Amino acid sequence: MAYDYCVVGGGIVGLATAMKLLEIQPGARLVVLEKEAGLRRHQTGHNSGVIHAGIYYAPGSLKADLCRRGSKATKEFCWNHRIPFETCGKLLVATNELELQRMNNLVERAKLNQIEVERLDAADLRQREPNIIGVGGLFVPETGIVDFKRVCEGMAGVVRKVGATIELGVTVTAISESDSAVKISAGGREWQATKLIVCAGLQSDRLARMAGLKTDHQIVPFRGEYYRLPSSKNDIVRHLIYPIPDPDLPFLGVHLTRMMDSVTVGPNAVLGFAREGYPKFSFNLHDVAEYSTFPGFWKTILRNIQHGLKEMKNSIFKAGYLEACRKYCPKPRNRRSSALRGWHPRPSSDEGRHPCARFFVPGNCPHAPRLQCTVTCRYLRHPDRRNDRGENRWSLTQALCLELGNKDGLQRSYGNQALILKAWGRLKDAMALLKKVESLALELGDKGQLAEKPCSAR
Ligand SMILES: Cc1cc2nc3c(=O)[nH]c(=O)nc-3n(C[C@H](O)[C@H](O)[C@H](O)COP(=O)(O)OP(=O)(O)OC[C@H]3O[C@@H](n4cnc5c(N)ncnc54)[C@H](O)[C@@H]3O)c2cc1C
Repeated sequence: MAYDYCVVGGGIVGLATAMKLLEIQPGARLVVLEKEAGLRRHQTGHNSGVIHAGIYYAPGSLKADLCRRGSKATKEFCWNHRIPFETCGKLLVATNELELQRMNNLVERAKLNQIEVERLDAADLRQREPNIIGVGGLFVPETGIVDFKRVCEGMAGVVRKVGATIELGVTVTAISESDSAVKISAGGREWQATKLIVCAGLQSDRLARMAGLKTDHQIVPFRGEYYRLPSSKNDIVRHLIYPIPDPDLPFLGVHLTRMMDSVTVGPNAVLGFAREGYPKFSFNLHDVAEYSTFPGFWKTILRNIQHGLKEMKNSIFKAGYLEACRKYCPKPRNRRSSALRGWHPRPSSDEGRHPCARFFVPGNCPHAPRLQCTVTCRYLRHPDRRNDRGENRWSLTQALCLELGNKDGLQRSYGNQALILKAWGRLKDAMALLKKVESLALELGDKGQLAEKPCSAR
């Protein structure tokens, strides 16, 4: 069968791309090809599950913009598909004077990025998080947590529902292009599509080369190791707890992450020896030979040598690992239970820098490698379909409902909007909408039937 679109990759980026294409072009013939026996088996299934608010990013940058909008779009998607998420907020903890200064810079950034933050002194910090110590803190209420595996399931459901196909166990091995179509081969099978979108995560550079694209970038895999605390420690923190990041380092530092079902410590970022090997000592000769003969790799390593060696040491000698966390949370001891791992693919250029332009659409988006789950729901949106806060869609629905006299629909739309506004912290606006919901409910004679509450939003 000839398709309009073929999407390679069944992670969150591939599925969100497929979903969006089908929304923009209803009825399009679309196939998603995934090499594993199930969806979201790689990065999307091995991450911290944080819906980032985007506090760190340079104001005006694409990364800042995508993150701010992506966070809202992700929550909205979860709401509409009854996927539990929690807006539990994130606390950045300063443990010394230098970090306090860095924290003040972050306050300025947050203002410019239009992200609400609350500055805490040592006493406020203790009161809010009794197990955390520091000289000050910054609370970011909008940060949330979700299980991105469930978000993927939701997206796959939408894709299948409109008649598109998801094929599993298909490893794309060749791509060739003619004037009118792209031929995609996997083993003995072939697919033809007018357009091909590759969202192959850790393999995206290889697929780019397979398609005959010239690229001067290559994926260098960094392993992110976490430790899940025993379930008795699930209440150790109320929020996500992060150190104040060192602006000279590419990662955020070891943090305490409240996940939907547990608390994890990590991740670190250690150079890996296999792109998709999850057991600790995985080794793939092809992967290592490929990056070690790539000049950009050595430049990256030399630039970060001190930090890299420390991360490796802490990965081998586990006592050092928790030391970074004990700086602000003395509680976790060596009684950590299961270890979890994920892969940070760092696209590295010939010059050993992380590129600032997208290099293979949208398989790996260097604007957002660390938060790609968060931004996915946003960077695939049509800019003209809604404004920053998604309010165009609501006002359109509400205008239509008013015109058609559909009070029931109007009530639901106000209710959903109120819940989202509440999750964003716009309590006054949310209350005003809930009043409208109530008066409509009175008119409709079903006072009790207010907005549905598919998930919690504190
Ligand atoms: C340790 C860690 C923590 C993170 N924490 C967060 C977080 O808290 N919040 C956040 O927003 N983001 C986070 N991220 C980032 C986020 O998880 C990733 O950016 C995102 O999951 C990338 O999705 P993807 O679809 O591009 O890649 P993947 O999920 O890796 O999907 C790519 C898919 O392509 C398939 N594929 C590859 N080659 C082929 C082929 N030849 N043929 C067919 N299929 C192929 C793979 O099997 C895979 O399923 C984290 C990442 C890591 C590593």
